[in-house]
Amino acid sequence: MTLPHLPRDISRRTRLLKDGHSGNGPVIYWMSRDQRAADNWALLAAAHAASALSRPLRVFFCLAPAFSGASSRHYGFLAEGLRQVAGSLAAKNIPLEILTGKPGITAGKRAHSMNAALIVTDFDPYPEKRSWKTELLKTASCPVAETDAHNIVPSWIASPKKEYSAATFRRKVSPLLPEWLTDIPEIEPMPPMNMEGAAPFAFPGTFPASLSAPDTGDPLEWITPGEHAASERLRIFLREGLERYGQERNDPGLDGLSGLSPWLHFGHLSAQRAAFAVSATPETESSKAFLEELIIRRELADNFCHFEEAAGTYGGLPEWSRKTLDAHRKDSRPVLYDIHTLEKARTSDPLWNAAQREMTSRGKMHGWARMYWAKKILEWSPSPEEAFITALFLNDRYELDGRDPNGIAGISWAIGGLHDRPWPERPVFGTVRYMNYGGAARKFNVKHYIQKIDSLVSTNL
Ligand SMILES: Cc1cc2nc3c(=O)[nH]c(=O)nc-3n(C[C@H](O)[C@H](O)[C@H](O)COP(=O)(O)OP(=O)(O)OC[C@H]3O[C@@H](n4cnc5c(N)ncnc54)[C@H](O)[C@@H]3O)c2cc1C
Repeated sequence: MTLPHLPRDISRRTRLLKDGHSGNGPVIYWMSRDQRAADNWALLAAAHAASALSRPLRVFFCLAPAFSGASSRHYGFLAEGLRQVAGSLAAKNIPLEILTGKPGITAGKRAHSMNAALIVTDFDPYPEKRSWKTELLKTASCPVAETDAHNIVPSWIASPKKEYSAATFRRKVSPLLPEWLTDIPEIEPMPPMNMEGAAPFAFPGTFPASLSAPDTGDPLEWITPGEHAASERLRIFLREGLERYGQERNDPGLDGLSGLSPWLHFGHLSAQRAAFAVSATPETESSKAFLEELIIRRELADNFCHFEEAAGTYGGLPEWSRKTLDAHRKDSRPVLYDIHTLEKARTSDPLWNAAQREMTSRGKMHGWARMYWAKKILEWSPSPEEAFITALFLNDRYELDGRDPNGIAGISWAIGGLHDRPWPERPVFGTVRYMNYGGAARKFNVKHYIQKIDSLVSTNL
């Protein structure tokens, strides 16, 4: 089967992963990474395919019983976001069905039972999600296509290989942006009969207790899940935050970041929507710095997970850094902390403890602090392999935006020099870039950051 005719701005973001027998049932959008109704290229692809084939459109979301250490806070955020998606889709006469089980297999079987004509899914290079897709391809009998709804330039078009650094990736992506960084069309309502025969939207009754998610305490109160809150946050950032971003983003004591990553991670907000809005403002140092993070760094993380089979493991780190860390494996560490001491923020470093507490109690550590936090874990762990596992475990359990290519790339950068270059050699780190408390104190008011976290944590705001 070739894909049905789709408008060019959708078809160029879509590729056929597998051919198969196209049944006389609906077109399915298996929503996974991009959990939103607006600005969603994968949903648009499925809707246009359904219209072209004169078939109903169905949307599935599959709840996995466990996902890379996701905890109760993540499932809560996801559930509320999906409730909103269901409402927005229903307003367009598109039903959303929640499935439970191993996602790729479950989605494939459900599509088979409906005699689906085509499955469209969103692109996601996160290692565990890649395996879900492999399972979908094995299980589904109909053709399967994927649409990159997360990156501005689809990952397979941005570069055909694993990039060495932000500089090499930027050289490829920047020239493509005038063509790809466009507005995104609104989805047209389907005819009312599209809802016929669809079960009303419902979460499994015992959700989330049926899931084996670790409990990370009460839901976070300072942040609201879903597309509406994400758009509102973007609006506020454009109005009040963007102009300060360049100056303030490296001071964790200030609120200089956009704060958008939880919504971007859950797909409640389209990065392209955010980038398009910023690119419509006058170009400044701040807007350039923000777009560098939002486009180049974020899409570089996808590039790494897409092309590096071992991404998310120590073996995925660059060879030069594994060599230098190995050469320094026997160096004496200033102190060793086990994972429980780290988790409880009981080290002798007040800056590190503040960062850790920011993450455990609020689910989002400041971006600069994340670099320092992970590098200290390397310094305080018995081996670099253990440091990598500890950092990824804590990040993914507590960060709302965890379990993401950005987290894998960030930790691989901090502990293993990914996308970085060798620096002067020193104990433990070898030639991997080093950071210390003195450097932080020269950069920003460390006391102020610690006080800020103390007051945020005590009021849970
Ligand atoms: C050790 C470590 C762990 C990290 N773990 C995660 C993680 O689990 N999930 C996650 O989304 N990001 C992670 N990052 C990247 C970055 O720190 C966060 O994206 C950022 O702090 C999110 O906050 P913000 O949205 O307010 O950022 P802003 O500075 O306002 O940036 C806007 C957006 O740009 C992107 N971005 C910003 N910095 C980076 C970066 N360094 N790499 C890739 N994309 C970036 C994000 O999508 C972010 O939401 C990690 C970085 C490090 C060093």
